Amino acid sequence: MRVVVDLNRCQGYAQCAFLAPDVFAMHGEEALLYDGQPDDTRRLDVLRAEAACPVKAITVEGAGATWAAEGAGVSDGG
Ligand code: SF4
Repeated sequence: MRVVVDLNRCQGYAQCAFLAPDVFAMHGEEALLYDGQPDDTRRLDVLRAEAACPVKAITVEGAGATWAAEGAGVSDGG
């Protein structure tokens, strides 16, 4: 699975770091650090983070079906 964050779009809301702390971490107030090739065991966390990002800055590739995020009951809030 591959994770790409558009850091130009990212506003540092930290939704991703909250939902998938093993993959995303805030460094200070604004800078986001992330693991671009997280373990597959983190798949659901990553998909939740992708779905929750208010600015849709997160792209996940090779995670299987994106319906998993929809099925995870994630709301699209800030
Ligand atoms: S949820 Fe989106 S905007 Fe917020 S820190 Fe993560 S990538 Fe950036």
